[in-house]
Amino acid sequence: MAYAEKIESFGDTNWYLVDRKPYRCPSCNSRNIGKAILGYPSEEDFYDESLFIIGCIPDPTPVQCKFGCRECDSKFWKDTPKMRDHAKQIEEWRKENE
Ligand SMILES: [Zn+2]
Repeated sequence: MAYAEKIESFGDTNWYLVDRKPYRCPSCNSRNIGKAILGYPSEEDFYDESLFIIGCIPDPTPVQCKFGCRECDSKFWKDTPKMRDHAKQIEEWRKENE
């Protein structure tokens, strides 16, 4: 069974850990989920509705998100120990700086 676990550490964002491409967006219920690509898209990619264009600013995470919701901009990361560690570190940092 696929899952999407919300990463709370980043505050007001709709970011999730997933085990595979989500069927529906947990935030807005849209099925318009695309594979995330970074940087300037080619014209072909720009019109490809299966892609989620991140743009040129990388996410502030050690790994790039894998998928994105084309309706509400929610982002999805593959659930890995590295990403969980990172989320935990951010959470601790936020607690210390509140
Ligand atoms: Zn959405």
